[in-house]
Amino acid sequence: MENCPICESKVVEKLLVVNKFDVIKCRDCGLLFTYPLPSDEAINEYYQGFLFNKPSESGLKKQIESRTREIGHFFNLGDFKFLDYGAGIGTAYYVAKKLGFDSFYYDIDRQSIDFAKERLGLAEDSIIKDSDLSGLSFDYIWSDNVIEHVKDPERFVAVLYGALKNGGKLVIKTPQASNVEALFIAALSGLLYFKNAFKQNSFSTAFKASFLKRYWHCEPPRHLYSFSKKSIWKLIEKCDIPKDTVVIRDYYISGLKYSFLDVWSKIRNPFFKGVVFVFALPLFLIELPIIFLRRMLSVFRVISGTGLIVEIRKNLDLA
Ligand SMILES: [Zn+2]
Repeated sequence: MENCPICESKVVEKLLVVNKFDVIKCRDCGLLFTYPLPSDEAINEYYQGFLFNKPSESGLKKQIESRTREIGHFFNLGDFKFLDYGAGIGTAYYVAKKLGFDSFYYDIDRQSIDFAKERLGLAEDSIIKDSDLSGLSFDYIWSDNVIEHVKDPERFVAVLYGALKNGGKLVIKTPQASNVEALFIAALSGLLYFKNAFKQNSFSTAFKASFLKRYWHCEPPRHLYSFSKKSIWKLIEKCDIPKDTVVIRDYYISGLKYSFLDVWSKIRNPFFKGVVFVFALPLFLIELPIIFLRRMLSVFRVISGTGLIVEIRKNLDLA
């Protein structure tokens, strides 16, 4: 079997098959990875519009609100050059521009680019065309749930870090391999991952991969990797980034997101909503204490979070 592509350990274990790819876990660094990696053509084809989910008006508004909080939290305001790398529909690009940054956008999906142009005023001269960012430099780079999609994460980090100005800051968000928080969320662990695994593997393989090994977030050909903290630290080391300039933290899912109550609250028709409520009440009563427990455990950071936030500053002494 393949060695771990990040830490090169030979101690790896095949967990299951997802869409004809093996999902393998490294026992040393905890990385979940895809074997074999899909071809570039297959990936390109997969991305053209496939990831693009046109958000509803209210969904877009909510995304912009939470992005405004995030961008304001991670970056200082001012006349800075900002890049949203793997921008998708471009809400971070949009928010950064509103906040006064000189904002740039990079993505490979045409449909997302068109949406961003039409709805968020993405200007042609703000679109970066070269994934390698050759000759470009930025004060701030934001990359939200992108690194798990790329074939070569080491190169990805090297490219983004390389395009950072002295004193600049790079923020990478990505799902966390084998996190415990997702175990508490039935819509993720059971309805999404276990169900998907069981469709393509035996019951025992699917059960073990889902609830014991927690293979979540490694979903080829979409997500080729799912990173643990240890595997990210290994990446940082391989890219020669000084460790004291890096902070890695867990992020958690907010209150009711992905809950049955959340799904129910989105039903528009009042009659249907009432009927569903009566039938789903027992489910809500079971779910609420679980949500409460999960939130308590995450507030006190007892369990690992669904995702990781990696903050990298370049040349702290110059900042
Ligand atoms: Zn490893």
